[in-house]
Parts: sequence; structure tokens; C-alpha cells
Amino acid sequence: MGRTDGTRHNRPQSWRNKGADAVLDASSKARNGDTAQRILVVEDDPILATVIAECLRDLGYAVDVLADGDQVAEHVRRQPPLAVLLDLGLPGRDGFSICRELRSFSTVPLIMVTARSESVDRMHGLDIGADDYLCKPFEPGELAARLRALLRRTRQWQVQPAAPPLQIDAAALQASVHGVPVTLTPIEFRLLQTLAQHPGRVYSRAQLLDIIYAADHVINDRTVDSHIKNLRRKLVEAGLEDPLGAVYGVGYRFLEKQ
Ligand code: CA
Repeated sequence: MGRTDGTRHNRPQSWRNKGADAVLDASSKARNGDTAQRILVVEDDPILATVIAECLRDLGYAVDVLADGDQVAEHVRRQPPLAVLLDLGLPGRDGFSICRELRSFSTVPLIMVTARSESVDRMHGLDIGADDYLCKPFEPGELAARLRALLRRTRQWQVQPAAPPLQIDAAALQASVHGVPVTLTPIEFRLLQTLAQHPGRVYSRAQLLDIIYAADHVINDRTVDSHIKNLRRKLVEAGLEDPLGAVYGVGYRFLEKQ
């Protein structure tokens, strides 16, 4: 059986050969130091690992494959990937325990790949920090869609909003608006810090009294109102849109849009 066209096929023809490539790839360091577009695939089945890696490469990602769950945490620490595809059923150590370990230090987007379709497993995976799951067998198209959706969501989370105009430095007991410190009394600072900690949450005057009581001898609701009034005036004078909402007959809250 000779070659008929005199050319050579450079691409390996079997998944198994490509699997060997993928494993070699995993054991080598990132060639260009760019870890931003690398996906880590943790899968002990070499054929499946190869199929997944090939699919991801077709989507334009660089791929590292690990078959051994024990190496995952170290790999993610050393070379934080764009996302992790984590097989649940690994020899020795299952995906759940790896997921838990990863979540102890990393928020890397993580898709759990499972052959077990029981919803209890899936729920457990999501509970312990997986962002999504894929059930084997899956189509490359489903993998691509899930990954794209996850990365889109993650990018949205990772986009840092502009620094809010109001900054509260609890250690320095200092609030500032647009970078300019606002001089607050200890009670005003404590009120602001308390309200701003949980935007939208309503605090009754009694709760606010409890909070400021430690800082001063105050005994009635009107005191809260007067401190809030002063705090509001200072923040507005500093250029902030009034962030303190009064809840009629109850108390105050920090408005969520600050
Ligand atoms: Ca497996």
C-alpha cells in the first residue's frame, strides 16, 4: 500500500495519537507565558481528553490536559487557566474534592464534566463551587456553547466597575467622596458604615440607636434623625447624590445605586 500522491499527512489520524500530543502539551510549560487563553482539561480517559482538547483547540484555545487529579491545584496556582473542565470520576481522587480544593484559593471558571446524570451529583457540584456541568456524552457544540456562556458571564463579573464615588475606609475611620475626605463624627461614620455595608437593607431607628449607643449616650429616635441629617448634609456637600433613604416610620437604608 504505497502513497499515491507523494504527500505526507502531517496530522495524526487517530484520536489516540492526538491524545499523546495533548498529554505532552500538558506536561510542558506554557510556551509563550500567555495563560489567559489556556483551558485546563482534567480527564483520565485519554481518548475523551483528546476529543475535548481537539474541540477546544478548534475554538481557538490553548489546552492543557491532566489525567491526575493530584496535580490540578498546583497547576492552577502556577498557570491560572481561563477555565477548567473537571471530570468528576477520576481514579483516586474525585472531581468534588478537587473542586473544593480549587475553590479554597481560586475563582477560576469551572465546568464539572460528569458521567453520572443523577441530579444530586450535579447539585452537589454546583453547591461546592462548580459554575456549570456537562453530562457525558456531550456534543462538541454543547461544550462550546457552555464554555462560551460561562466565559461571557465570568467576564461580566470580572469587569471592574468604576470606583464608586463614596469610599469608606473602616481602618482609618475615614469616608471620602470623589477622593476628597469628608469630616464625619464617629457616630456619623458608624451610621454610614453600617448602612452602606448592606445597601437596600432597612435599619430601624432602634437598631441604629444600638449601633451608635456604644459611641455616645443617646437615648431617643430623634438623635438618629439628627445624626442622619448631618451625615446626609456632609455627603451631599461633598458632591454625592444623597445615598440615605428614609423609610417612613421605621428607619433608614443606604440606597443601592451608590
Ligand atoms: Ca473519568
